[in-house]
Amino acid sequence: IETHASILSLPSSSSTSSSKDYVDEIPPLNPRVLDRIRWECQSGRYEPFYILDRYKIRQRLDLWYQHLPGIVPFYAVKCNDDPAMIQEILAYGRTSKDRPVGFDCASEREIRQILDSGGHPEQILFANPVKNSRHIAHASDRGVQWMTLDSVEEVDKIAQVCPEAKVMLRLKVDDTHSAIQLGLKTGAWVHECSAILKRIYDRQINLIGMCFHVGSGSLDSEAFIKAIALSRRIFNQAKKLGLSPNILDIGGGFPGEAKKVMGKVQRTPFSAVAQAIRWALDQYFPEKGIQIMAEPGRFIASGACVYVTQVIGKKKVYGQDGLNNLCMYYMNDGAMGSFPGIEEDTLPCLPIPVDPSKFIHRPLLPSILWGPTCAPEDGIMAGISLPEMHLGEWYVWRAMGAYMASRASTFNGIPIAEVVPMDSELDIAE
Ligand code: PLP
Repeated sequence: IETHASILSLPSSSSTSSSKDYVDEIPPLNPRVLDRIRWECQSGRYEPFYILDRYKIRQRLDLWYQHLPGIVPFYAVKCNDDPAMIQEILAYGRTSKDRPVGFDCASEREIRQILDSGGHPEQILFANPVKNSRHIAHASDRGVQWMTLDSVEEVDKIAQVCPEAKVMLRLKVDDTHSAIQLGLKTGAWVHECSAILKRIYDRQINLIGMCFHVGSGSLDSEAFIKAIALSRRIFNQAKKLGLSPNILDIGGGFPGEAKKVMGKVQRTPFSAVAQAIRWALDQYFPEKGIQIMAEPGRFIASGACVYVTQVIGKKKVYGQDGLNNLCMYYMNDGAMGSFPGIEEDTLPCLPIPVDPSKFIHRPLLPSILWGPTCAPEDGIMAGISLPEMHLGEWYVWRAMGAYMASRASTFNGIPIAEVVPMDSELDIAE
């Protein structure tokens, strides 16, 4: 079983010693969400589905403002662009006057989605440092002026297509402690900044600020401190050139909902990260008049969705001694669909049975979970002992709201899962 896990590069771990332990260790699901899941499972469904809880989105935005007052979150749409997610964030900004929200869009389509959902152009940052010119032209046509860049070539492109743009220089910062290192592809090195700033000045583009991203799934407060200190240096450099930046965008990389992954609790000390950020801002940007914003994705979206999948196949594997040494299960979704991440912070949690009482009395078996396609890389997890599962049973996966559906493919004709929105606070089924 270990070999399977390593060959497939799938998450693997030692797990609990009995089925009762397994069930006892699972934190309970919200009863209203669980009721809704049971109802959906009994209504003839045969494809997987998400439950998106709007209440969780409001809770996360409240938590954000509690720890980072005054720092406007521009939600990274790429993380989960479900219409219910976007509507809820927009509604939050409309109803809480002192808690504005914005959106980080990466393409023409995302810009269109936000504007067509009732967002304003000033609520959008086109936060993709290398953009298709046609997408820039679309942004310009629709009044979206804020955009990021990280090269002299992009300055020239923007000067040609959207000279009225208000740009932010994306800096390359230390992201080595994160699950997904965005700096491999984006961001200007310190030694490149003066040439880019000079080109911005020469082409008479309006530089409004600096931005960075410490990497997605980052658990390192220090990375934010170093990045804020670096931003200060480049701010000063820009001012010396006669430019007037007054916005600092501290990017994304904030932890998602705390979850138990492969038997280990993922500690997500958002409060500690926020404390470090507040300290660094006081230290490096003490002057009044600097506007601070951020681009959180996972922080808002991850806990908003649970994912519900069904066991559609099962194979017991026997050794030459005739003993059953492994159980292979086939779920109706896998790594080609909504389980694409095997990075630390994107690993799936352990599956939760919709009906845990029966589960307690089952034997614990070494297991592999596969997805439904013909591809051997379509695995979910291996190297784990699970209480025996049966055909037709439904299982719930926690904290599946970030970078799951938005990265899923329809390989083998398997459809992308439906999202069922609800509001667990108001107990509203939609
Ligand atoms: N901003 C940009 C430019 C990104 O590329 C990403 C993620 O890829 C985010 C924000 C959101 O990051 P996270 O979900 O880690 O907060």
